Amino acid sequence: MVLVPVPAFQDNYIWLWHNGSHAVVVDPGESAGVEVYLADHGLQLDSILVTHHHGDHTGGVAQLQARTGANVFAPAECPDLPATRVVHGSQLTVLGMPCQVLHVPGHTAGHVAYVIASDDEPPILFCGDTLFSAGCGRLFEGSPADMLASLDALARLPGDTRVCCAHEYTLSNIRFALTVEPHNAELQQWQLTCEALRADQQPTLPSTLARECQINPFLRVRQPVVRLAADRWTASQPNGTQASRPDMTDVDVLAALREWKNTF
Ligand SMILES: [Zn+2]
Repeated sequence: MVLVPVPAFQDNYIWLWHNGSHAVVVDPGESAGVEVYLADHGLQLDSILVTHHHGDHTGGVAQLQARTGANVFAPAECPDLPATRVVHGSQLTVLGMPCQVLHVPGHTAGHVAYVIASDDEPPILFCGDTLFSAGCGRLFEGSPADMLASLDALARLPGDTRVCCAHEYTLSNIRFALTVEPHNAELQQWQLTCEALRADQQPTLPSTLARECQINPFLRVRQPVVRLAADRWTASQPNGTQASRPDMTDVDVLAALREWKNTF
């Protein structure tokens, strides 16, 4: 099985997974790059998976479906797509493999993720704009509590799960993460690895869930060092208390990190 990110727009990845003859793509915001890849490799597109309704994830779905006859799977928040609706717990079969749907609200209200399990390869997580390497999606339609619950659900997947994010945001996310945790050795090492990959025009993805649990501040809101950084940032804001809040909840920490990152 081959897993490749097809670049699109400025920094999107359209993930394509194939077995040499049949393929599935995730969040095709445009169709051209996918069509070229399919033609170059002689692939039949079986399925199109959509994680959420944003145009840079859906713009190429109709054309790809019209040209290939692929089955489209999408959450209810994409009513304009000619799709089979998926909900939390939906079980699909993709290229003969079981694929589970998780509802992961926060970035959008109806955002879903797809988890593909296989007997002989590590699981694959297509998480759209919910989880990025060293970061998470902006909260356009959900609350910090929604996002924390979604990230916690993803963090419960096996550590060797391949994390397929929909954007190449890794280096800028790492710069923020290092501000939160300057002494995190795994994070420092991941920055060196990703700088080398990007200098070579290679993707930094997929990451693994085990790595993200070590380096991603949004998956580490229960770590004392992350809580302290979030607390200090909150207290330093113009409307902040200027005093430490030992009673910060996990949701408070995530909310502070997300707000901090928005202005970083
Ligand atoms: Zn989005």
